[in-house]
Amino acid sequence: MTEAQLRQCRADTPGTQDRIHLNNAGSSLPPESVLRTVTDYLEAEARTGGYELMAARQAETAQTYASIAALIGAQPDEIAFVKSASDAWYQAFYALNLQPGDIVLTTQTEYIANYFGLLRAVKHQGIEIQLVPLDADGLISLPDLERMAAAPRVRLIALTHVPTSSGLIQPAAAVGALARQAGVPYLLDACQSVGQLALDAAALGCDLLAATGRKFLRGPRGTGFLYVRSGFLDQVEPPFPDGWSAEWDGLAGYAWRSGARRFEQFEYSRALQLGLGAAADYALGLGMAQIEARVLALAARLRAQLGSLPEIRLQDPGRERCGIVTLTHARVSAPELMARLGSRSIQTSVASHMNARLDLETRSLDSVLRVSVHYYNTEAELDRLCEALEDL
Ligand SMILES: *Cc1c(COP(=O)(O)O)cnc(C)c1O
Repeated sequence: MTEAQLRQCRADTPGTQDRIHLNNAGSSLPPESVLRTVTDYLEAEARTGGYELMAARQAETAQTYASIAALIGAQPDEIAFVKSASDAWYQAFYALNLQPGDIVLTTQTEYIANYFGLLRAVKHQGIEIQLVPLDADGLISLPDLERMAAAPRVRLIALTHVPTSSGLIQPAAAVGALARQAGVPYLLDACQSVGQLALDAAALGCDLLAATGRKFLRGPRGTGFLYVRSGFLDQVEPPFPDGWSAEWDGLAGYAWRSGARRFEQFEYSRALQLGLGAAADYALGLGMAQIEARVLALAARLRAQLGSLPEIRLQDPGRERCGIVTLTHARVSAPELMARLGSRSIQTSVASHMNARLDLETRSLDSVLRVSVHYYNTEAELDRLCEALEDL
């Protein structure tokens, strides 16, 4: 990314003016184009009427599917607009209609809400969860996965690409190849990787992919999307049919609308949908390869800087690591670190074991400070963070 591009990105991002935002894994700062798209639509809606404006702007909302699909190398009809990554994941999971005795393979780095969904299905659907061991670097063990996926009754591999609690990147494409080989459906939680890393759905080999808008994608809150591979659509039945996702098929049945949009329901915010489309367009304008390169370079620089601070300990497992940098301090707890940095307008977050028990407890960590960089952060901002940590 050139200096001029970086300057332009920061000029486009009102939130970068008076604070150092390093909580992009929580919710990143949207560009002005996203903000304007949403507020303009809301104002027009109030003047025009919700249904009338929806009809008038139909071509634009249709375009958002192409923008979102382009982010992950998918087709527009493989995308459903939803309200969050959890919404996408839950709908995908329940659409599989797992039966008693079915086995789901996952790992210790699975996201809390996904794992709760699996625990609920243990209780009410009689499924079984099997955790695939992690290797010494914290990555899913591919030989173990291959062996476990070959067992009868394995009906799903659920993987979180980048966990919420560390900078680890799971080998999602290698998992996809093994899922294909075993003929087992593969549900990828790409919530922290979409907008941060260049993704290609075909290369990842997933059947279902869940993502959110507000994290690295820089979309508005209350947005997300679900990707359903077109060849996989006939193996799932969405849990919430309505008059938008399906239509009457005689008196006694219903027929799904075509494509992944059968996972949508009629009532959702068209303003937010257009905002998510604007965020996707903004990312595509810069190019995901360029975004990924800058995020990884900034994070590597930060890790090197932090590594030389005597009381700081880096806590990211993994071989390749992403823009989420986690650390602990020898004397100061993570929540206290976050508060002290916050008083200097440096915004970070905390990953607590209460949100990532399987991950942090097995690593004997109570909580870690999570510093998540985005391409619009500057080297000077990272220097300020390190100075603030040194001052403690
Ligand atoms: C934040 C997060 C989610 C949940 O996203 P929502 O949009 O809040 O539902 C899922 N998976 C991972 C890895 C996350 O970090």
